[in-house]
Amino acid sequence: MCGNCSDNSHPDAPASPARRRALLAGAGLAAASSLAVMPGQAQAQAPSAPAGNGPWRVRAYGNQRADGPFGPLEIPRRALRPNDVLIDIMYCAICHSDIHIARQEWGPPYPATNFPCVPGHEIIGRVAAVGSEVTRFRPGDIAGAGAMIDSCGECENCVNDLEQYCVKGWTLNFNTPDKYLGGYNYGGFSQRVVVPERFTVRIPPGMNLAAAAPLMCAGITTFSPMQHWAVKVGQRVGVIGMGGLGHLAVKLAVARGAHVTVFTTTPAKVADAKKMGAREAVVWTKPDALKAYANSFDFLISTVPTSVPTHPITSMLRLDGTYVIVGAREPIEDIRGSGLWLQRRQVSASLMGGMAETQAFIDYCARRDIVADIELIKPDQIDRAFERIKTKDARYRFVVDFT
Ligand SMILES: [Zn+2]
Ligand SMILES: [Zn+2]
Repeated sequence: MCGNCSDNSHPDAPASPARRRALLAGAGLAAASSLAVMPGQAQAQAPSAPAGNGPWRVRAYGNQRADGPFGPLEIPRRALRPNDVLIDIMYCAICHSDIHIARQEWGPPYPATNFPCVPGHEIIGRVAAVGSEVTRFRPGDIAGAGAMIDSCGECENCVNDLEQYCVKGWTLNFNTPDKYLGGYNYGGFSQRVVVPERFTVRIPPGMNLAAAAPLMCAGITTFSPMQHWAVKVGQRVGVIGMGGLGHLAVKLAVARGAHVTVFTTTPAKVADAKKMGAREAVVWTKPDALKAYANSFDFLISTVPTSVPTHPITSMLRLDGTYVIVGAREPIEDIRGSGLWLQRRQVSASLMGGMAETQAFIDYCARRDIVADIELIKPDQIDRAFERIKTKDARYRFVVDFT
């Protein structure tokens, strides 16, 4: 859930089920998915104590106003419905969208922030209890949850495993109306959370759980467009912005065999980009720096959390190249016809993945040992972490430790 994530009515044409299957197969994901660990294997451990069926009051960290500090508070979690999973949260990473929500940085058309605000949507934890109809999890399993925790389940996109583009509107795990408890819901900066099984993914054994947490939003948000536009071996890919999303975009594009160039405004990140497999890392503070790359790239992805001029970026695309925005808030500025028609270029924007794609993605990362570079923090360091993200001092994702 990054960038346009509160606008869930994008008119993007969904890929057909057959196309989705072809895309997944194209990156070896269908095979990876079939290798997903079965319930109860390896990581299954007995829970420390039966959790019961709820409801629960749980400890959380939130802020009471946009400019207020984070502090402990208590929030409700609903009693388990038949298809619900109760997750005892171990790790929850900080996405830039958490800052946007908590600090009320999103103006209209996005919904205003309700306070107290408990954000957090890159969740990994241990299953503590399951509803009576849950089949894929049992207590002790390791599970992940991301930004999206519900959708209509009936519209064309939901039926085609594209819940993130549900035309009736999906539910975020924070700051969206809670249809069970009333009011609005609370995110993952908390002790435990209740998520429908359909919006919960299995975490394969052997993963570094803290470093895997950012895959639940930053990872899938950068992976899904690479999958949709079928980024492949030998293509030239440019990653604009190298933060939490950007550094994972680099790793994921490198894993696909692309020739990756990073565009960063932070000179200290150049060496990191190359260590992650980028062929080049370009420091740019002014659009003029991009002119040397005119007509060069097949695929460009912007993970920058603020609006940047589009025209200098689209000018770097070669024939039929695509520029995808996953990080920016409104507006998308400076799209020019001349920057598109001369090379039949495309500009698009993308959300996180659907749940089938997210599960396949986690399995794919487990097989290739792809995780985020993280710094583990305690809950009382969230405010400081927010500031460090804003000053580009994160390397590259802060993960709050709730163990
Ligand atoms: Zn996010
Ligand atoms: Zn739907």
